Amino acid sequence: MGGEHVTDEEVLQIFRDTRALLDGHFVLRSGLHSPQYFQCAMVLQHPRIAEQLCGDLAAKLKNAGAQVVISPALGGLFVGHEVARALDVRHIFVEKNSAGKLELRRSFQVARGEKVLVVEDVVTKGGRVRETLDIVQALGGEVAGVGTLVDRSGGKVGFGVPLESLLRLSIDTFDPATCPLCQAGTPVIKPGS
Ligand SMILES: [Zn+2]
Repeated sequence: MGGEHVTDEEVLQIFRDTRALLDGHFVLRSGLHSPQYFQCAMVLQHPRIAEQLCGDLAAKLKNAGAQVVISPALGGLFVGHEVARALDVRHIFVEKNSAGKLELRRSFQVARGEKVLVVEDVVTKGGRVRETLDIVQALGGEVAGVGTLVDRSGGKVGFGVPLESLLRLSIDTFDPATCPLCQAGTPVIKPGS
């Protein structure tokens, strides 16, 4: 991986090497077609790589002075845990209840005035991060910032607090009717099937 901090190109290469980032012609869950497919879990299945990448993300978040890291389960768990390890603070998480809303369980606590960092694996529209921010604020915690391994929002998402990402990834999507890959006759792949 070279050097103390990875470059964007190195991060992309790691994502490709671990097959977290695939190139081809894919149908996304939305039904849209894309020349790329990203599955963060594929890179996080390698603990040493997760530690390195999340350590680099943590370095960007160090100045926030967080006392605790909180993540939305499941996606944010591994990134949150590794960032917390690098910052030497504790890591807690929110999880879905039976109504599908995130909540803080398992006797986890956020103290009034405690500086909290919200950490996620991938931010696209930011709904889960926003829900987590609301929980922290309702408990009286002070949100010190948001960290995500990958920002797929195209710089569109904002939380009213500093947002740091290791990599900004923008992936083209096409309506199947006008997809240039379909028009070129490239076979389409449905990931995960
Ligand atoms: Zn297509």
